[in-house]
Amino acid sequence: MSDFENPVYYDEDADVSILDNRTVAVIGYGSQGHAHAQNLDDSGVDVVVGLHEGSSSRDAARDDGLRVTTPVKAAEEADIVSILVPDTVQPAVYDDIESALEPGDTLQFAHGFNVHYNQIRPRADVDVTMVAPKSPGHLVRRNYEADEGTPGLLAVYQDATGEAHDVGLAYAKAIGCTRAGVIETTFREETETDIFGEQAVLCGGVTSLVKQGYETLVDAGYSREMAYFECLNELKLIVDLMYEGGLGEMWDSVSDTAEYGGLSRGDEVVDETVRENMEEVLEGVQDGTFAREWISENQANRPSYTQLRQAEQDHDIEDVGADLRALFAWGDDGGEEEVPADD
Ligand code: NAD
Ligand code: MG
Repeated sequence: MSDFENPVYYDEDADVSILDNRTVAVIGYGSQGHAHAQNLDDSGVDVVVGLHEGSSSRDAARDDGLRVTTPVKAAEEADIVSILVPDTVQPAVYDDIESALEPGDTLQFAHGFNVHYNQIRPRADVDVTMVAPKSPGHLVRRNYEADEGTPGLLAVYQDATGEAHDVGLAYAKAIGCTRAGVIETTFREETETDIFGEQAVLCGGVTSLVKQGYETLVDAGYSREMAYFECLNELKLIVDLMYEGGLGEMWDSVSDTAEYGGLSRGDEVVDETVRENMEEVLEGVQDGTFAREWISENQANRPSYTQLRQAEQDHDIEDVGADLRALFAWGDDGGEEEVPADD
């Protein structure tokens, strides 16, 4: 067992009874919102869901047996206000509900972006916490129902009452996170590592690697089908092995040829230059350049975002991939569950 740098908490470290006489307002009923609200409710916590009058998520929350009112009324009534609307709309929602907060209330987030980059400046007389499950909402719900946990993060940004940490930990337990383990972090560390990870490795890095590999094969005259299988489809098998048992289990499972070739050529492909590019991307995350760009992008109605999305949809690999997946129709285990639509 290795020593962790940050404290890790489990069920026995958290006491849900601190929530006994508190009401939690869950604002938003999307991916995280529906999971937090239902898990809290099943854990015996008094929950009210805050959604504006015209929200298409209202019916879903009611169908799940939850009480629904407007965000402002929910915040007025609640002692803990969990902000689970998309990050880009959180500042406007906070402006609406700020005066509904009472001194000593808890403002709870699942991602640190708006607080860390000063898009929300919480009132000084409230506690500000983050409980961030490291998983999409449908798994947070599914794991809870299966008596399993979802690992999560806990951070305290502001402790006006002296109870912020205990309340955050209780919230994490009530949504099932301490069953798996909750790592203590800060708003800064969570935000910067999260955004760096999605840009450099998870979403940006990996898709670029896939596209470049595909294009290299197709440009050299190989068939699009083979290029798709090699560079995109098989990625899942490799990632599943790494997820289960780390890099070692993956290397053990592939052929010796794959292992030797991968070990000897990987660093040739993703070389020092890529490392320097990553450091630059990290700098843009740390100094707020990316945050400012993303905020003005949203204020301008997302012109670059729309263009980049279109270019990605138009890539040849999407075309051949759609045809192949329709032809083979494999691997459909119903993985992604429907969540209420955005509104
Ligand atoms: P989402 O896009 O799934 O939630 C959208 C919901 O917010 C809608 O269903 C609607 O109920 C509500 N909503 C949308 N626009 C609104 C508006 N203008 N006013 C009021 N309500 C509105 O969001 P999400 O992915 O659950 O993200 C919520 C928070 O959780 C974010 O801070 C996000 O970073 C964080 N988070 C998400 C995940 C994830 O996997 N989705 C994981 C960890 C943390
Ligand atoms: Mg993330």
